[in-house]
Amino acid sequence: MNAQPLFPRVALIGFGLIGGSIARAARAQGVAGEIVTTARSARTRARVTELGVVDRVAETNIDAVKDADLVVLCIPVGACGPVAREIAPHLKPGAIVTDVGSVKGAVVRDMAPHLPAAVHFVPAHPVAGTEHSGPDSGFAELFINRWCILTPPEGSDAGAVARLRAFWTALGARVEIMTPDHHDLVLAITSHLPHLIAYTIVGTAEELGQVTSSEVMKFSAGGFRDFTRIAASDPIMWRDVFLANKEAVLEMLGTFNEDLSKLTRAIRRGDGEALFEHFTRTRAIRRGIVEIGQDSAAPDFGRPHANLARKTD
Ligand code: NAP
Repeated sequence: MNAQPLFPRVALIGFGLIGGSIARAARAQGVAGEIVTTARSARTRARVTELGVVDRVAETNIDAVKDADLVVLCIPVGACGPVAREIAPHLKPGAIVTDVGSVKGAVVRDMAPHLPAAVHFVPAHPVAGTEHSGPDSGFAELFINRWCILTPPEGSDAGAVARLRAFWTALGARVEIMTPDHHDLVLAITSHLPHLIAYTIVGTAEELGQVTSSEVMKFSAGGFRDFTRIAASDPIMWRDVFLANKEAVLEMLGTFNEDLSKLTRAIRRGDGEALFEHFTRTRAIRRGIVEIGQDSAAPDFGRPHANLARKTD
């Protein structure tokens, strides 16, 4: 436990997978003197009260941010603008306002105009998650050995950026700084496009006439199962991601379609050499990811029970 918390009061707007994980990790690491949270529905707020992992559950966003030194929006990307507008007049001067949205350009565009000059706006994206959502889904180890990308606007207060970096580092993450546009391009290929492919292929399998649903379920270990896990991700969150990162996703989708056409052609022509060369290259990428500690050979890496085995650095 830290002797002196990094932030006397932290407000988490939204308590789902990410908000709930931040609360649990911040409490475990002693980085917040007091943690206040809220959620949109009375049902979630009641559940968070029951869970007892925060100091106070506020009824409204406005009440939650009062006197908070760090305000973290842990809500779908599309809700960030309206919530920023709502809380803006109630923020403590000098407070750091941040978010966890999976898209950064749109969040900066939607939030920044509402925030007063007296607060420091430092957008962030912890690149860590599971397909689960809701107040029970979070766990303290989610961010360990994962990256958290900060996208501070030009001219941001260096002290505020350093404090937010220290917060995420204390939660176990490794921190990198990027521009919002670069973040959106990188995440379009590493996260958004894979989700789109998973949503597509699971839908396609479901609509197939020749293969029954029970066969799809029964033989899912042949690759399909991994797609179904990704395709189980929260529909609201992912709707917002694709709406908010439209340009970068369309750009990556264009390149993807060209590459898919090349592989299609290789299959049609029986070009085994082209297929072998491609699959060898992609296998090396997978091995590289395992080598840098961003996944393990275990199929359930990233699940709560597997986290104890994770190394921190
Ligand atoms: P989640 O589990 O669905 O939780 C979302 C929370 O936001 C819920 O508590 C919800 O309240 C609350 N909420 C929604 N609109 C709100 C509003 N207008 N005011 C106050 N609270 C509101 O979602 P999540 O997975 O934690 O995702 C949250 C954010 O993290 C998203 O922006 C997402 O892009 C980002 N992110 C997600 C992942 C991931 O893998 N899931 C990874 C990195 C970043 P109710 O429960 O009452 O509806």
